[in-house]
Formats: sequence, C-alpha cells, structure tokens
Amino acid sequence: MYELGITRRFSAAHRLVSYEGRCEALHGHNYRVEVVVQGDTLVNGLLIDFKLLKQKVDEVIKSLDHVYLNDLEPFKKSEPSAENIAAYIYTGVVRQLGDAVRIRQVKVWEADDTWALYRTEE
Ligand SMILES: [Zn+2]
Repeated sequence: MYELGITRRFSAAHRLVSYEGRCEALHGHNYRVEVVVQGDTLVNGLLIDFKLLKQKVDEVIKSLDHVYLNDLEPFKKSEPSAENIAAYIYTGVVRQLGDAVRIRQVKVWEADDTWALYRTEE
C-alpha cells in the first residue's frame, strides 16, 4: 500500500452561526489543506503525479478561496466549520479524481494548532 499527500492553501471568511462565542462573529482564516491518497498499483513508479493531484485539488479549492464561505450553497445548511470544509473538499476531490486513485483523507487547518480531518470508514 502506498500513500502520498499534497498540501494546498486558501484564504476565506466565515462565521459559525450556531456557535456561542467569538467564532460567531465574521472572521477569516488562512486555511491549509492536506489531501492524502492511497493505492497498491504504481504506474511508471508513481501512484499519481503530484502535479496532477494538485491540479485536481485546486479545482475544488478555487471555489473556497477569497470568498465568504457562508454564502456558498453547501454551507447554507451546514456550518462552514473546518470539519465540514474537510468533508466538502473530500467529496469534491473524489469527484475530480474518479477512479484514478483512492482518496484516504482530507485534513484542514484553520490555524497552526487547530485542524479537522475527514475520511470515510475503511
Ligand atoms: Zn473560524
């Protein structure tokens, strides 16, 4: 089994509407996103080209960059928390990758010391 990952970044504003405290107010984060994929088969020594994986992840992340996340359709019903952002990116990247490679997990940092991870059960 091989695993590899890439890291991307984006900036966005949000507010956690149902949160009682500072995060209820409008504020922003410089998010860091780590996407990990896995598989058993290498083609020409590669599980997937890092460049291709970055392109696929960027296709998903561009919809989040420099926007007010609460305005986006997926976050009108669910809070734009790091947890839900990770799940959103996971689903989007699965759609982007198709059968090319299996996605293991998506980790989203809101700050250097706080992150959320989304993955499906094995
Ligand atoms: Zn926040």
